[in-house]
Amino acid sequence: MTQLQHASIDWKNDRPLSTRFREAYFDPDVGPTEARHVFLAGNRLAERFANLEQPHFCIAETGFGSGLNFLVTRELWRQRAPAHARLHYISVEKHPLNADDLARCLALWPGFSDATAQLLAQYPPLLEGLHRLELDNGCISLTLVFGDAARGLAEVEGTVDAWYLDGFEPAGNPDIKSAALFAQVARLSHACGQQPTTLACACSAPRVQVGLQQAGFRLTRTPGPGSLPEILSATFAGAPAKGQTGVAKQPWFDRPAPLPRPDAALVLGAGLAGACAAHALARRGIAVTVLERCAKPASGGSGNRQGALYAKLPVRPTKQGLLHSTGLDYSRHLLAHLSAQGLLPDHAWQACGLLQLAQNDKEIARQRQLVDTGAYPDTLVRAVSAGEASDIAGTDTPHSGLFFPGAGWVSPVELCQALLQHPLISLRTGTTITSLEPQPDGQWQVRCDSGTTYQAPVVIVATAAAARALPALSHLPLKSIRGQVSETPQPATQAPLRTVVCGDGYIPPPMNGTYCFGATFDLHDSDTEVRPEDHLSNLATLTRSLPTLGAALSQQPLQGRVAFRCSTPDYLPIVGPAPNAERFVSDYARLRQDRKWSFDTEPSHHGGLYVSVGHGSKGLLTCPVGAELLASLVCNEPLPLGRTLTDALSPARFIIKNLIRGSI
Ligand code: SAM
Repeated sequence: MTQLQHASIDWKNDRPLSTRFREAYFDPDVGPTEARHVFLAGNRLAERFANLEQPHFCIAETGFGSGLNFLVTRELWRQRAPAHARLHYISVEKHPLNADDLARCLALWPGFSDATAQLLAQYPPLLEGLHRLELDNGCISLTLVFGDAARGLAEVEGTVDAWYLDGFEPAGNPDIKSAALFAQVARLSHACGQQPTTLACACSAPRVQVGLQQAGFRLTRTPGPGSLPEILSATFAGAPAKGQTGVAKQPWFDRPAPLPRPDAALVLGAGLAGACAAHALARRGIAVTVLERCAKPASGGSGNRQGALYAKLPVRPTKQGLLHSTGLDYSRHLLAHLSAQGLLPDHAWQACGLLQLAQNDKEIARQRQLVDTGAYPDTLVRAVSAGEASDIAGTDTPHSGLFFPGAGWVSPVELCQALLQHPLISLRTGTTITSLEPQPDGQWQVRCDSGTTYQAPVVIVATAAAARALPALSHLPLKSIRGQVSETPQPATQAPLRTVVCGDGYIPPPMNGTYCFGATFDLHDSDTEVRPEDHLSNLATLTRSLPTLGAALSQQPLQGRVAFRCSTPDYLPIVGPAPNAERFVSDYARLRQDRKWSFDTEPSHHGGLYVSVGHGSKGLLTCPVGAELLASLVCNEPLPLGRTLTDALSPARFIIKNLIRGSI
């Protein structure tokens, strides 16, 4: 992960100038008009939006800058596109404006104020990678890719219908129109059907023309508007280029060939993973039946009274750290959105921040290093002394720590209920699945203990460790880890905690006058009974973090709950298409002898079968964005996560690792 730098802006009245590139982002008098002329008309978007037949349309841009191109595109989309269609707008930006400069730019366009409010509320932290924002109740997905254009686009998976090549003059910024970038543009373009990918560019420098032609585009040059001498529009004619991804070739992680978009899907399991998946599919107009063994949703690992949005950030970037920071942002915006819609009640969540205390020397040193590297912006996380931590918490702690101002807590049970409240979702509780079989007509059939069967072309298995009971998924290395939480009324003598406090354990502020804290971590323990000694252990852990509150809660009656976290050997969840394990083992058997063997065998999947399991204790961070990943795969839309993370979550990864190790 590269450390990014914000744009450096010199404001000349209302004209933002990039001091790095010595160019203006736009001319305030003609900015929107020019953007409409060059990019919207250059791609014939008015006509294409109005006649759209596919369920979504994807635009990708180099250089998000102030977001002006995005705003004028959204305006046209809302005027022209069919109401049920979805716009994907992907924009890659190496030097994002800081939030203040962005707000100042956007304030220039009061006509777009409803969009700018949504954009500013979700504007991501300065971290390299993909950040998915949802606007207009999910009708528009904006995926901001922070980082260099060529490198960032190499992470993107999807198919682009129209490109905006923006990004300052190549004379002063050669990276933005390099051969590596054009190779990525070609990789993501398509030449199929009557509507091949088009492209528009405000600059017609010879190197741009040559680069685009070599990448497979046919060009048209026209006089530009205003001060622009000439602009380019182009149509993709080449075959999608293979081997130009800039990513090591690992064919086993390639996406399965797209199936027709389904009308219906089955989701097995109504915990967080299942409820998020059902919600993400229903939002796309797919009718979902959710089958749940227990009498109510969120009765297993997702059934604790409260859960924390707890991201563990590493000093040096890891895939887990990237997933946590991405998931934290995605989840907190989802909670805010569900709350704004009146689906998630106020008592069921709080964006109250989260303290991660450093309770031993090793963690103190780790946190210091994390802050010293400057890898994380302080809008995401900042160091706090023990005194500051005590002030933030509203009770004393002897420990310094990290504060995550955007985090908080939610009731997972109420979150699942909110997610499942959709007219396209039907929930069948008390339904135990006994078999899952593919049918000759391409459907999957699920049989339940009552004898009832359900069929759909798409099934998402979100039944935690029970997924292994299905023969197609018995290869998944899932384990259950027992955890007991303790609950007690908020003592009258104590002001309520003001933030979530994590360290060796976790405790959020009380919900409806009751504290919930814990949790124990018991490997190889299948005891479902609540144990008094586990309450004592939770109290001892709490007291080490927050002595006064711990002492007060020790005087109180305690209740509790036992749940089992479903975990994986690499502590990353398993989210993606289900591999055909037998075929994988035979197709990639050569890995046992040579891990660098160059395969050209496409991976074999159980078409239409997907998995979302193994979220451990981080499901609040990983289930929502994981569900967006699954729904995007099912609907053949651009993915919300970069290729590095998508591969890291792949259900096929353990088969490949085991082949390389020679253990299967
Ligand atoms: N499309 C923008 C808008 O609607 O406001 C204006 C884009 S501005 C003219 C050019 C943008 O390209 C700047 O924000 C700049 O930081 C970005 N940029 C320059 N070089 C880049 C690179 N190599 N990769 C990604 N973005 C880059």
